[in-house]
Amino acid sequence: MLELKLADYKAEKQPDWCPGCGDYGILSALQMALFELKRDPSQTAVFSGIGCSAKTPHYLNVYGVHTLHGRVLPVAQGAKLANPHLTVVAVGGDGDGLGIGAGHFVAAGRRNVDMLYILYDNEVYGLTKGQAGPTLGLGEKTKSLPKPNPQSRLNPLLLAFAAGYTWIARGYAYDVKGLKELIKEGIEHRGLAFLHVLQPCPTYNDLHTKEWFAPPGFTSSRKRATTPMSPQGFPRRSWTSKMMLFQEKALEWGERIPVGVFWKAELPTFEARLKAYLPRYPEAYPARGPEAPLDLEG
Ligand code: SF4
Repeated sequence: MLELKLADYKAEKQPDWCPGCGDYGILSALQMALFELKRDPSQTAVFSGIGCSAKTPHYLNVYGVHTLHGRVLPVAQGAKLANPHLTVVAVGGDGDGLGIGAGHFVAAGRRNVDMLYILYDNEVYGLTKGQAGPTLGLGEKTKSLPKPNPQSRLNPLLLAFAAGYTWIARGYAYDVKGLKELIKEGIEHRGLAFLHVLQPCPTYNDLHTKEWFAPPGFTSSRKRATTPMSPQGFPRRSWTSKMMLFQEKALEWGERIPVGVFWKAELPTFEARLKAYLPRYPEAYPARGPEAPLDLEG
């Protein structure tokens, strides 16, 4: 058993994000989750793409790789397949993951590699002066745009579902404790987990601010991103009604925004499928109990 303190997961380098940026909350939640799960820093790797969020690995005392724009998922999946015992977390913004990286986002869902992908969603390209990101709504105009956005909002949860992610959740960057619990569950999920995090960017997004998410004088029932989902992701329902409820909840946006676990499925990981084809693939895997039944015809 490792005897580590929370501080052991923090790098000496201090974050240089703008004051009030939601990235701070996500970083804290990730540090706390790794600490509470007692993940060995020498067996943990955090990967990032390009963007403000991509600095995350610099601030963690675990292995880290700052990759190319939109390419975080192929690199992170490759690391996990090369060393199945690693705890792998990939992070990136909505522009990185759903713009230039959209093809990789979809392809990853088809594989189900055992790792967690955290999407920091602030609806803008913060690192390059706030251009509209893929999740900004049609007709919305932030202070960094000369005209309203002429493109429609892409829904990350629906895309993840269609691509085949086997654990899908949403959190809010300023709800650090709730986010920490979601990150822990996503890391422990057996397969590819996707965590969509709503994250204010106070520098460029003046529409969906922390005041918008939690209006002045809010009570917990007035705060938007706090409607809890069932921790089991719609238990005791038929497959069809689960799918319909998933879509309904994923599209809910306005006075109340659901957060929590939306979807969970037990399916064979890509590692298990590789073992079926490649006998030399690491024999020690799986390390966390039996896999879901493997049906390569399915
Ligand atoms: Fe955060 Fe926005 Fe500043 Fe980037 S530009 S560090 S996302 S507040």
